[in-house]
Amino acid sequence: MTKLTVPIMVYSVEQGLADAAKAAEAGADLVEFRIDHFGEWEAGASGVGMLVEGSALPCIVTCRPVWEGGEYDGDEMERVSALEHVLESGGAGPAYIDFELLGWEKSANIRQKVKLAIEHEGQVRGVETGLVLSSHDFRGRPGDLLRRVEKMVEVDACRVIKVAWAAKSLRDNLEAFEIIEKRWKPTIALCMGEYGLASRVLAKKFGALLTFAVLSNQEGTAPGQPTVEDLKGLYRWDRLGKKTKVYGVVGYPVGHSMSPQIHNAGFDAVDYDGVYLPMPVAPEYEAFKATVGTWLDYQSLDFKGASVTIPHKANLLRFVEEEGGEVEELSRTIGAANTLVVREDGSLYACNTDYAAALDCVCEKMAIKREGLNGKRIAVLGAGGVARAIVAGYTAYGAEVVVFNRTVQKAEALAKEFGCEAKGMDEASTFKGDLIINCTPMGMHPNEGETPLAGYAFEMGMVVFDTIYNPLETQLLKDAKAAGCVTVSGGEMFVKQAAGQFEAWTGKDAPLDVFAKELKKYLGL
Ligand code: NAP
Repeated sequence: MTKLTVPIMVYSVEQGLADAAKAAEAGADLVEFRIDHFGEWEAGASGVGMLVEGSALPCIVTCRPVWEGGEYDGDEMERVSALEHVLESGGAGPAYIDFELLGWEKSANIRQKVKLAIEHEGQVRGVETGLVLSSHDFRGRPGDLLRRVEKMVEVDACRVIKVAWAAKSLRDNLEAFEIIEKRWKPTIALCMGEYGLASRVLAKKFGALLTFAVLSNQEGTAPGQPTVEDLKGLYRWDRLGKKTKVYGVVGYPVGHSMSPQIHNAGFDAVDYDGVYLPMPVAPEYEAFKATVGTWLDYQSLDFKGASVTIPHKANLLRFVEEEGGEVEELSRTIGAANTLVVREDGSLYACNTDYAAALDCVCEKMAIKREGLNGKRIAVLGAGGVARAIVAGYTAYGAEVVVFNRTVQKAEALAKEFGCEAKGMDEASTFKGDLIINCTPMGMHPNEGETPLAGYAFEMGMVVFDTIYNPLETQLLKDAKAAGCVTVSGGEMFVKQAAGQFEAWTGKDAPLDVFAKELKKYLGL
């Protein structure tokens, strides 16, 4: 069972033990005491034994030198001697001692001293201490990564292989999984940085020895370590297993996407064996194709679908077409899709749940079917990506759309394509019809006071839909509501587009109330 491990940089024995107790309380299985600063402790190196003996959880003891990305910059033999103080712990001793492959290879003397710490003849221990041989590269994947792993395999005393490197793309994670899946020895293979989260979360799916996660009030010991809270809460750590299906949001940047929160909460609510991750992919088509292609190809990853956002919505269409998959007709017309579905037989399907959500949340409020939009007169404010999906969706059901945009040429181009009218935004105040849809960011946080229709004479009973979801009630919606209009918020659209994706992946009804709750939580409401 993969151990959830909290790394603790120890600045004093007292603080180290207190953090270990917090880690136990947070539900971790193991702690790593990073004793890089033992020279500054009041107890000195003998504090190492006190840490091990007093720890609330089994532990790894590591003194990482600066030349391997750590903070110890003293004498090498003193560093090794400090590890021998684990012998003073009296009880079970640490579960593991971590030592760098590079240091191990330096001299027979060092090897002998490290071995003494793990295999001391006179030791009476309930738990045997294992040697973790480790290799880290904070710049990127080392060219000789696999040779390093081979060397660790060959060292008899090495109980655990550990490799960690800074990922440059999501593809790096696949190599980490591959190394774990070789099962030469218990293995830790982690990728650092924003591209490496998958290796940290999915370590459990692939059966790694451990993954690292930090306490929420702590800084990590390597870039990209999630908090225990996120790993257990957001990423469903306790539910992850070998068969867990993997989903994610592909875009750039995706760090602030709320989709992981929404979909993981949804998986929990319907008891679906899935996990949903942020998937940053560099903007070019080649990056999209290489990443999504290799993730799909890695069978044991069970990558079954993705939300696709800016700047990859058009790339998704191209990719699925090139792979011989099916593209929803209207997505092709729009020129953008936001959902990738991997079907049971492995074939690919791309669709656009944005336009579908924008149609359905309005139809629900009007108590009509999509066909009931035929002949309705609609103002679309804006001519960007969202406006395009909405114009395509509404005109497909026979609505008479007028596009109003600040840059009138853009409105004209869009209107020409879908056979509708185009006007400058300054003419929007003259619009008379059934429905107004705002597809501009006017009124979006932090510009809550703005509205694209200041002073507009709303007619009672008109429907006004703002695609903005932050805030949930924009100035436009407040004005419309005050005039007796029916209002639809961008939050309703967001929840519906997420529900469309969820249902396409899981075949289950989306828990809309859970999605709405998560959206509010995300917005701090
Ligand atoms: P986009 O492609 O950048 O288009 C923005 C549009 O807004 C353009 O037509 C632009 O006019 C206009 N615009 C921008 N600033 C303006 C201003 N100060 N005054 C007047 N017009 C202005 O953006 P998008 O991807 O279509 O997104 C538009 C909105 O949709 C976002 O603000 C977001 O809140 C919302 N959205 C909602 C959801 C949801 O699920 N509810 C999902 C995605 C997006 P020009 O052509 O003149 O530049």
